[in-house]
Amino acid sequence: MTDIRGHRLVTSLLGLSLLALAGCGQDDGSSQKALPPSASGSVALSPSHGGLTGGNLVLADTGEDSDGPITARFGETEVECPFDERSSRHACTAPSGGTPGTVEVSFAAGGNEVGEKTAYTYTTQGTQDIPVLTVDTETVRRNAEEIRADFPQDVQLGAVLKNGEPVDVFGKVIEDAADVDYLFVPKLDDAIALREAGVQARIAVLYAAQIEDIPLLVHYDVEVPATDPAWVDAAEQVLATTGGTLKVHLWVDTGMGREGVVPEEALPLARAVEGAAHLELAGIATHFSTITAEDAEAIERNDTANTTVAQKNRFDGAVAAIRNAGLGQDALIHAGASDVLDHGIEALYYDLLRVGGMFFSSSPPESSVYSWTTELTQVKTLPEGWCIDYGCTDPTTSPKKVGLIHHIPSRENELDYTVGGQQVPVLLDHGTVVTLDLSQVPDAAAGDEVVIDFSAEAFHMLDATAPLPVTTTGG
Ligand SMILES: *Cc1c(COP(=O)(O)O)cnc(C)c1O
Repeated sequence: MTDIRGHRLVTSLLGLSLLALAGCGQDDGSSQKALPPSASGSVALSPSHGGLTGGNLVLADTGEDSDGPITARFGETEVECPFDERSSRHACTAPSGGTPGTVEVSFAAGGNEVGEKTAYTYTTQGTQDIPVLTVDTETVRRNAEEIRADFPQDVQLGAVLKNGEPVDVFGKVIEDAADVDYLFVPKLDDAIALREAGVQARIAVLYAAQIEDIPLLVHYDVEVPATDPAWVDAAEQVLATTGGTLKVHLWVDTGMGREGVVPEEALPLARAVEGAAHLELAGIATHFSTITAEDAEAIERNDTANTTVAQKNRFDGAVAAIRNAGLGQDALIHAGASDVLDHGIEALYYDLLRVGGMFFSSSPPESSVYSWTTELTQVKTLPEGWCIDYGCTDPTTSPKKVGLIHHIPSRENELDYTVGGQQVPVLLDHGTVVTLDLSQVPDAAAGDEVVIDFSAEAFHMLDATAPLPVTTTGG
């Protein structure tokens, strides 16, 4: 791409993102030789955000009175935008973006800059009607640095990334800031995204792997759980054709009722893995269900009535059975998560800790990893005796002020809505239309910001299945 103006703009991405968040796309003055704004007013993009793959139509109003073609520069990428008679805008096709975040957009015609600079926000490939969720990567980076600074010396650090997009951004930031040994992810797509983003650390899928995915696992150097001996046989057959070695982890369900084999089945599974020419037993793992601050002491006393002690003993027994059979000598033993590290239960550290939530914890509002806002599209006062929702079970008993918001995905965690600093109840939730009770916010008006919060204790555990469009600030 040629730079038709012969100089580069140096507005920082962070500065620009903050401006965009504040609803202001104007240049913040840190650009060198920024041209004065056009005489005819502001620049507007419709829409002002879109998915990373680009290809969508973006109509641009440069404020100029020209119907000739213009060139739009989205970050570093230029696209030609013919004039669109129908909308009286210039019709650009958004180029693909690198990572979620806000880029500067500038326009030129015949080699001269036209209009003001503005901003376009790239998000993950979510449903663009859903309010954009913004991730503050600076907070994640700071958490990662703190975790690394306090981390026990002789224990490997595995980061667990199961709170969804943008998993590649999270992985890069955390690898960079905490020099992690491992990244653990719930699904293969996440593992591929991490490798494609250039993550060097070892990567393991947590819960299950499909046999048909084995060539991909080999290609991307991704480790997976070995489900059972039948899975091992099927995997070995495929690996005999791909060549290479697939590293697998043997999960023991010691009392969680989730991933892994029951303890008696651990040794037979280890035998199957060690007997397969193309499989390597890289890890033996379990997951605790009921970590508490009392566990360290309970372990000391071997209090078998304590759930964690029971799980630990079953795990240690399974590992000993495997090792006594001369197997799994080099396998990493891993079991503890954030709660084990948080409580400093050293007896559960083993060779590696799998730390998830701690990377995403925050003390809102100063350092929230996530910010999620939308706007009231409509505000009205319903008369007394007015039905709310189908069935009219709970009509208004006096005039009631309400506000509408839209396209809020249903989530496993309750959401809180705040308008004008006041948390407001939900009267009706149909997802595509949500009616908020604004009785306590008499000044609320259409266009006002609505802050959407996950429940406080679950704040870092975003439901990864919702197709949210997610962007980032903080670089
Ligand atoms: C979620 C999870 C972790 C991480 O737990 P946090 O409490 O988020 O640290 C570790 N291991 C497994 C198997 C998990 O499912």
